[in-house]
Amino acid sequence: MLRFLRNRLNNNLDRGDLKMKVSQLLLPTLREAPAEAEIISHQLLLRAGFIRKSAAGVYTLLPLGLKVIKKIEAIVREEMNREGAQEIIMPIIQPSELWQESGRWNVYGPELFRLEDRHGRVFCLGPTHEEIITDLIRNEVQSYRQLPLLLYQIQNKYRDERRPRFGLIRGREFIMKDLYSFDRDEAGLEVSYQKMFNAYRRIFERCGLYFRPVEADSGAIGGSDTHEFMVLAETGEALLVFCSQNDCGYAANVERAASPVKKRVDFEEPGLLEEVATPGKRTVEEVTLFLNVEPQKLIKTLLYETEAGYVAALVRGDRIINQVKLQKALGVLRCDLADAEVVERLSGARVGFAGPVGLKDLRLVADLEVMEMANAVSGANKDDAHFINVNPGRDFNPDQVADLRQVQAGDPCPICGSDLEEARGIEVGQVFKLGYKYSKALGANYLDEKGASIPICMGSYGIGVTRTMAASVEQNHDQNGIIWPVSIAPYQALVVPINTREDEQFILAEKVYELLLNAGVEAVLDDRQERAGVKFKDADLIGYPLRLIIGKQAVESSNIEVFQRKNGQTITVPLEQIVSFVKDYCRQI
Ligand code: ATP
Ligand code: MG
Repeated sequence: MLRFLRNRLNNNLDRGDLKMKVSQLLLPTLREAPAEAEIISHQLLLRAGFIRKSAAGVYTLLPLGLKVIKKIEAIVREEMNREGAQEIIMPIIQPSELWQESGRWNVYGPELFRLEDRHGRVFCLGPTHEEIITDLIRNEVQSYRQLPLLLYQIQNKYRDERRPRFGLIRGREFIMKDLYSFDRDEAGLEVSYQKMFNAYRRIFERCGLYFRPVEADSGAIGGSDTHEFMVLAETGEALLVFCSQNDCGYAANVERAASPVKKRVDFEEPGLLEEVATPGKRTVEEVTLFLNVEPQKLIKTLLYETEAGYVAALVRGDRIINQVKLQKALGVLRCDLADAEVVERLSGARVGFAGPVGLKDLRLVADLEVMEMANAVSGANKDDAHFINVNPGRDFNPDQVADLRQVQAGDPCPICGSDLEEARGIEVGQVFKLGYKYSKALGANYLDEKGASIPICMGSYGIGVTRTMAASVEQNHDQNGIIWPVSIAPYQALVVPINTREDEQFILAEKVYELLLNAGVEAVLDDRQERAGVKFKDADLIGYPLRLIIGKQAVESSNIEVFQRKNGQTITVPLEQIVSFVKDYCRQI
């Protein structure tokens, strides 16, 4: 058998990639994860030697890390190209003038990395590329004949995140695929949006992820319809609700999710507004226990500081205010809970006793549900006192009524009325219908058949490539390490000679390795002079989908033990079938 192998392989021994053996790889595995790594993907990517930190939120991709990234990028490219998109590369350094034109220079805030050149011209490092590409298109597209157009790039993005954390999940420098669509009108945009939506589904499926597209809030980028693609994981920063009723399919980020408000059914005779003593009772729990009422009888009053001044927001005692909804309702960019001093100054009472009745000089915004309450309890804007029998409309009139509350598990689905469920997710991609926001601001128009000048209808579509890699680890691991889906694994198969000092084992291992390479399998040979236990431990940590074990048995019987990382099973494959087995395995999964 060995002679047979030698004959087949001699012609190919000078292949460059044959040199890539574990002993030569820069693959620094660690026994322990550095303390700062809070979540499993961050810990494992560090421990398995895929990434190294350079500064907060800034990482080097080591050889195996880069291999995974290249695989994800290849999948993204294929699916973008399949939809007729064209790849370009735009500058990372962007002139501030374009951001002034779009109006985002002052809106984007401290997340934007700003810099000056030697002549004092101001630039930023691109966090996203709507401005640059709209500028390109206004110069290059004149006629309806040039539309529709889909352009994308895969490139580093820069965002000075307030809290860079979780390794590649929230970096300050990260790789993103961003695509922009240009259409004649909204009907065209709808087609582009659907194309991308479907491409995103295929991409994340091919990456082996368990995910869910959800309706989302459009945030600072602007526009109307938008969906986020969420990889479901406990450690996800996003909270989403979904309906598991057959055929319903409703799913939304809680920043966006609306839930129908139950109208008041049983009419309650309004009681007399009365101040009651609530000494030291500040929290919803303390007050409602003390007064012996349900939390849904309490009006919670929270004071916020925004760039447009202070506001008081009201929700039912058993609800949480969603800050993104509040921000949107108020039309502000910044919204932080006011600190205790401010609360005392504005309400006249210590924290815990603010209420809508008699609260002066503050914009008052109430959640929809608050307006359905009757004979409620609220703070009396006086230390150690609350009002009872508070009735909206009679005792106070908010300046604004809006949907502020965070939808929770058990709330009714806005489509079918069934109970919603909650999950956490990592946002790996987002698709936006931008509409005319940027084309109008920058004047990107085309001429139609009749010669009329019409603004181009745009969309933008992002995928976090580095974040996708981390999200995959978050979903695919066990106590021993990473379990890469074959489609994005750094290598498909590892060949392990058990005892490298046994010539026969080593020669057979090398031959199997070469056979695999010649058949186009991405294989790597663990040629290190280490104990088999050490090699297996590393292999588990690194997460190669298949491990081919070349020991005594392989040499004597030409049967090779193949360990499958995904299910932990070992099967025996005859040497003649090893290549086809590995190839089939990699195709199937
Ligand atoms: P997030 O809400 O998590 O901050 P975002 O909504 O601001 O993200 P987008 O502008 O939609 O992000 O960017 C497109 C994609 O880029 C996101 O879906 C995400 O996968 C990725 N991404 C965004 N910010 C980061 C980051 N700081 N680090 C790594 N990837 C990121
Ligand atoms: Mg997003």
